[in-house]
Amino acid sequence: MARYDSVVTGGTLIIPHVGEIRADVGIRAGRIAALVDPGDLGPADADVRIDAAGKVVLPGAVDAHYHLGIYRSLSEDAETETTSSLIGGVTTVLSYFRTGSHYLEKSGPYKEVLPEVFDALEGHAKVDYGLHVAPITREHVDEIPWLVSEMGIASFKYFMFYKGFNLASSSRDTRSFLMSDDDYDLGHLFEIMEAVEAANALNGSRISVSLHCEQAELMRVFIERAQANKDLSGLREYSAGRPPLTERLSIEEAGVLASATGVAVNFLHLSSELALATAVDVAGRYPALDARREVTLHHLALACEDLEGKGLGAKVNPPIRDRSDNEALWAGLARGEVSWVASDHACCMEEHKGDDLWPAWPGFGGTALLYPVLLSEGHHKRKLPLDRIAQVASSAPAQAYGLYGRKGTIAVGADADLAVVDLDLTRTVTPELCRSAQDHCPFEGVEVQGWPVTTVVRGHVMFDGDEVADTFPGTYQRRVD
Ligand SMILES: [Zn+2]
Repeated sequence: MARYDSVVTGGTLIIPHVGEIRADVGIRAGRIAALVDPGDLGPADADVRIDAAGKVVLPGAVDAHYHLGIYRSLSEDAETETTSSLIGGVTTVLSYFRTGSHYLEKSGPYKEVLPEVFDALEGHAKVDYGLHVAPITREHVDEIPWLVSEMGIASFKYFMFYKGFNLASSSRDTRSFLMSDDDYDLGHLFEIMEAVEAANALNGSRISVSLHCEQAELMRVFIERAQANKDLSGLREYSAGRPPLTERLSIEEAGVLASATGVAVNFLHLSSELALATAVDVAGRYPALDARREVTLHHLALACEDLEGKGLGAKVNPPIRDRSDNEALWAGLARGEVSWVASDHACCMEEHKGDDLWPAWPGFGGTALLYPVLLSEGHHKRKLPLDRIAQVASSAPAQAYGLYGRKGTIAVGADADLAVVDLDLTRTVTPELCRSAQDHCPFEGVEVQGWPVTTVVRGHVMFDGDEVADTFPGTYQRRVD
């Protein structure tokens, strides 16, 4: 009998915090069983051989910001969108879930709602998955200890801009949007933070609060002004209605409450130079605070200047900014100020974008481009080391969200989650290339150098050449010890 189920030979491994190593990988029962000198594994050692000669082997990416089932059914989204993840070398997705409009269009305690979510996902995902949960009601806050210890959920989300009547995607008020009569305000956030910190103290893992930082009262005024300004339209009007100042103020608000409660926080999808600088400032002001900073692919690589006349496909919260913000975020990434990069993937069809700016639904997909855009724009164009790319795509989100060791590295005993990448392969982005159900792509036409050619999920070869396996081996990942 062969010693290994499969082997990856001839490649250069990129191991976060270690660097580049020439070694072959032996995989058994879904895990990495051995790292050996190149050439040591003979034909008899495995039935399946993955030839990585001339390629680099990265740890499978952990796409830490994802929205399965936000606009379509959870099962359907899981099938098509995790297919798209494989194209980008993503082997684990951490998806947000909340009650209220979109998703399951229902309210109620998570003890009742989550089993439905797990049922819908099980057997439908091509990559491993975990959930971040947003406590919307006070009952949800009371459920936090159960969510942590029983459901294995290690991260909780709060939306700073769900307040008043100015939800930019609809004219509905927050209560009807969230289908809840409870107050959703800074007092609610404070109680979430207290409950999460209490759970954190009882558990070995890092239990954290993730924050969508835009400030609702400022948005009310700036949206009014943007709508009245006849010189503005499209994505520029959208950005003007939700400018970086709104990010700054809500980061400051959240920072004060985080330092008061001692809870670990993640500032999500910082879109602008000002937002990143503010989040760095806040961390410096409260040295005891564990505050991590996320940016998205689209805030790194898309700019209003480049999307002029291309419709509303790239409408997203926070908005797409300018090229100068792209460069500031890349510089922050190079300086170590950005903790990780995610896609904020939300499959949103063209028909829900339309050509009416304010009612258009926010969000779009990008998971297929996670490694490709980081490699093309970050490594090739801006000379970021491959080790740094592997950190921001894989090890850092795994560390932040209770997955590290199992995920986020290439080591004996870790899950065999691997992306074999051809650094020279150049392709122009099209919706078809991304293999998402989404019928448009804001990155369409961008030339990208550096693509996964094989993606392995816990030892399953799920993507190879152009072929995607028609199995669904993805499993739910508990993130609490
Ligand atoms: Zn999101």
